Amino acid sequence: MLTDPLPDTLDVRKAATRGAIARGTLKPLQLPRFRDLLAAGEGIIEAELTFSRDEEGRYVVRAITNSTVTVTCQRCLQPMPVQLHADSTLAVVWTDEQARQLPASLEPAIVTEEECSLRELVEDELILALPPFSYHEQADCNTVLADLTAEPEADGPPKKSNPFDVLAQLKPGDTHQE
Ligand SMILES: [Zn+2]
Repeated sequence: MLTDPLPDTLDVRKAATRGAIARGTLKPLQLPRFRDLLAAGEGIIEAELTFSRDEEGRYVVRAITNSTVTVTCQRCLQPMPVQLHADSTLAVVWTDEQARQLPASLEPAIVTEEECSLRELVEDELILALPPFSYHEQADCNTVLADLTAEPEADGPPKKSNPFDVLAQLKPGDTHQE
């Protein structure tokens, strides 16, 4: 278990040239965009970033993260722990033009400052690793499923039309646009 905090920033060119490895831990509260997707701020994130140059002279970083964080169960809406593991290799670039020139096999990590923010790099990886929906194991779910699945009374009032039916008629791709 790692305990040292991850350094905030790093000079990628120097780090890659000497093959540096940055390791350390972060807390969700240090990553506001990621934290916004979680049910609670507790949890721990371990990150290991290995910098190198590839045979084309590109600056690459292999980012491995292991984390345990709390998300919301989409069935019972109670918090639940989820473990995330991500392992990806990114090419560090400083301009959009450099990003466009990368082969399709390499994801760009665009660095806007001279130094690379390791937190933002890790945060982007965590956001990608987070599943869009999480559910407890059925037996662990805290919801009273009987309430949700109960048959409506036969002599009850006529069912009102559900405004969400309109959403259901949209094509799947249309419902998640912002
Ligand atoms: Zn649940």
